[in-house]
Amino acid sequence: MKYVLNTQTNTLHIEGYCHYLYFNYKKFDSEDEARAYGRLNIKNCKTCFKNRDKELNNASKSK
Ligand SMILES: [Zn+2]
Repeated sequence: MKYVLNTQTNTLHIEGYCHYLYFNYKKFDSEDEARAYGRLNIKNCKTCFKNRDKELNNASKSK
């Protein structure tokens, strides 16, 4: 899972989880790295994190 930080809006996206087009961005291998880099005002992209949670829920249900 790759995290994509839009450096213009400080919004953190997850690659492949929304249809956001990346223009001014930086890619990270983990959420922690992205947060360490952006620190100040990082906002989570609602679409991306909602989709991730959905997927995590499904994964834990199918165990
Ligand atoms: Zn997103």
